[in-house]
Amino acid sequence: MKVGFVYDPIYLKHDTGHHPENAQRLEAIISHLEQTGLSQQLTPIQPRPATLEELSLVHHEPYISHIREVAQKGGGWLDVDTVMSADSYDAALYAAGGVIKATEAVSNGEVNSAFALVRPPGHHATPQRAMGFCLFNNLAIAAKYALSKYERILIVDFDVHHGNGSQEVFYHEPQVMYISTHQYPHYPGTGSIEETGSGTARGTTVNIPLPGGSGDADYQQVFAQIVVPAAQRFEPQFILVSAGYDAHWTDELAMMQASTTGFAQMVKIIKGLADELCNGRLVFSLEGGYNLTALATSVKATFDILLGKPNIEDPLGQAPYPWDTPGITPLIKTIKEIHNL
Ligand SMILES: [Zn+2]
Repeated sequence: MKVGFVYDPIYLKHDTGHHPENAQRLEAIISHLEQTGLSQQLTPIQPRPATLEELSLVHHEPYISHIREVAQKGGGWLDVDTVMSADSYDAALYAAGGVIKATEAVSNGEVNSAFALVRPPGHHATPQRAMGFCLFNNLAIAAKYALSKYERILIVDFDVHHGNGSQEVFYHEPQVMYISTHQYPHYPGTGSIEETGSGTARGTTVNIPLPGGSGDADYQQVFAQIVVPAAQRFEPQFILVSAGYDAHWTDELAMMQASTTGFAQMVKIIKGLADELCNGRLVFSLEGGYNLTALATSVKATFDILLGKPNIEDPLGQAPYPWDTPGITPLIKTIKEIHNL
């Protein structure tokens, strides 16, 4: 089993200062992969900058020019959450290009699956707006790119925040199914069960908005009862994953109770779908995750599952004080009804 990983030090040069989305996140991941010897078991994939043509598959040209100009002026704030530095434009080009390269490597059969360890993240970026720490929508660009070769692409987004940008890009696109689990209500406010896609794409947006406090058992339930049957019906030829680890119980940007073991279970299910439906073609792209230990161990666990290892390490363990949530059985029933699952 050959598993690729994309990384380049240019991703550290997107300097956000005192900000939860900072270069230490990737440094923590890389050093953990090295210390545990895992990086030697992976196939490195060298990223390249995305071309303007590739960025334009998702983003409007005046917006791309705006990001380049802000970088040329030394950086600045794009909205209340999203900041960039002089090198952020270049880092963002390599982030988008890195996910494209991962997609190419899987598509060409150089590797069985791959994980692009990139920043800035992407899933909140809309065609004409930066938001939520995101400049360009890396995964959406790679999905558009992959549409030149594949007819049906599935995006699974388990970041704790709803990927409003990805949903917007593909809301009218029947060839791309977007499935998201997210805390709700929460930032950015989108992602209700009623948002299901439009026109011929109706039914290809599947939102699974979960209450704060949801944990591993809840995620297992929604993956088994919604994600799996929705994916099986759609029959994707390629699966892309917006992999954010901010649903971890230690994460301070949300209120979920998932553990590293829980993330590994989700990855196992997604890998099973890729093996069953699309010859294993599977690419992960890093989104959020702000507790450095949880992030590094969960990314490693993701690689361990992709490598086919039976066990993962979960040093942080389960949430010590699990919430007494009302349960999500009625929510699952409603979503299944909306989507005829
Ligand atoms: Zn997030």
